[in-house]
Amino acid sequence: MTAYTDVQLHIDGDWCDGTGGWIPVVDPATEEEIGRVAWAKQADLDRALAAAEKGFEIWKNTGVMDRVKVMRKAAALLRERADDIAWKMTREQGKPLAQSKGEILAGAETIEWFAEEGRRTYGQVIPSRQPGVMQITMKLPVGPVAAFTPWNFPINQVVRKLSAAVATGCSIIVKAPEETPSSPAELIRCFIDAGAPAGVINLVYGVPAEISEYLIPHPTIRKVTFTGSTPVGKQLAALSGQSMKRATMELGGHAPVIVAEDADIEKAISLMSVHKFRNAGQVCVSPTRFLVQEKVADAFIDGFTEAAKAVKVGNGLEKGMDMGPLANERRIPALQALIGDAVEHGARLTTGGQRIGNKGYFFEPTVLADVPTEARIMNEEPFGPVAVVNRFGDLDEAIAEANRLPYGLAAYAFTRTSATADRLSREVESGMLAINHLGLALPEVPFGGIKDSGYGTEGGSEALEAYVETRFITRLG
Ligand code: NAD
Repeated sequence: MTAYTDVQLHIDGDWCDGTGGWIPVVDPATEEEIGRVAWAKQADLDRALAAAEKGFEIWKNTGVMDRVKVMRKAAALLRERADDIAWKMTREQGKPLAQSKGEILAGAETIEWFAEEGRRTYGQVIPSRQPGVMQITMKLPVGPVAAFTPWNFPINQVVRKLSAAVATGCSIIVKAPEETPSSPAELIRCFIDAGAPAGVINLVYGVPAEISEYLIPHPTIRKVTFTGSTPVGKQLAALSGQSMKRATMELGGHAPVIVAEDADIEKAISLMSVHKFRNAGQVCVSPTRFLVQEKVADAFIDGFTEAAKAVKVGNGLEKGMDMGPLANERRIPALQALIGDAVEHGARLTTGGQRIGNKGYFFEPTVLADVPTEARIMNEEPFGPVAVVNRFGDLDEAIAEANRLPYGLAAYAFTRTSATADRLSREVESGMLAINHLGLALPEVPFGGIKDSGYGTEGGSEALEAYVETRFITRLG
């Protein structure tokens, strides 16, 4: 029988309480307190840092196939426990059960992919100018990592960082989200139960700013990785820079979707409406600014509005729900303010716009059409179930609007013309562009942004580069 139990810290091989006491965890669908998470203060962080140093010494000297063995076992345990963990994730985060389970199974695949890719962190042999000189590079694990992850994908956001660290021989301290603590703790339990030695993986929760301000400058920490909002990312990147720590920053986005008049409009509507309202729009790559060519704009707005109305919103534990509540109460006034501001600027609200009921943080799937550029929602990431649909004349106009914002995470396009696809591939400023289908976020492909959306990738072979340093050796004799 599944139950939501209090969530402890994991330090130096032990599950333990924190010296700060406990933080309540709330089910966003019912507003009930369902459990508590342990609160780490400085004494706990000091223990985690000492453990990470010890764990790094052990893990960097562990053979690669032994590391792979632990990772494969962790993936198998995650699959075995998927139903139980999915229930916990839905209770703490709100997303429908099938989406929680999908995230967990995708997590298992991510662990396996990184385990294999870790076997291929090859150095080089560089031809020398002088006979008898051997020039080589080695890829060595960077050291203990501090990872900060958010509540929207409680497992996916941790598993990429954790797998890359563990695969390359680093140790890690994960500061997981206090709002959704149980499912990431269960992910870490899979690694511990699979045989990860004490100190290699440590888990803390608490006051995010207190923890990041303590861990990032600490001499033990050699790498920082963060997923969250752009303002916080800039602060943490600055802090990392001051102590010359490497950093990966996966930050906010405001994804444009360019729909050309020659596109398969039905397909664009069906794919993008599911993608928009997945996880109640609380997704950094969520499609947000739809830019539709004039000739097909009315048909697109009507079709997308109908699709939004058809989304079934309710408790994610109930069968047949497409969308659960928002994960946090604070997102309700934030969305209401953005929508109100857009309407005041002359936007047309074609559906939604309101909180649903007064128990649980449910919000209507919302579509705003013809929104002026000055409206806040055209400039700020809504991070909720709201789509904005505007029109464009020619492709120059669409590209200019797509690139207008400082964000550059994901972008999408629909067209049947190869020349249009080529041009968008070169000119849209984003770390990722999906044309005529979805296909982002697989373990083997890059995942990351440019401009204010951050730097570094959390997928593909380049993701491992962030966890190793290149050592050059030149040797005569
Ligand atoms: P927020 O900026 O307060 O927090 C976002 C995440 O960062 C949370 O997990 C939080 O615990 C963490 N955080 C905040 N301050 C921190 C600090 N000083 N040190 C370390 N971690 C810190 O915003 P929020 O209200 O929780 O979420 C809304 C905004 O967050 C959205 O607008 C979106 O931009 C961003 N967000 C992005 C992602 C993503 O996948 N890129 C995920 C969640 C939230």
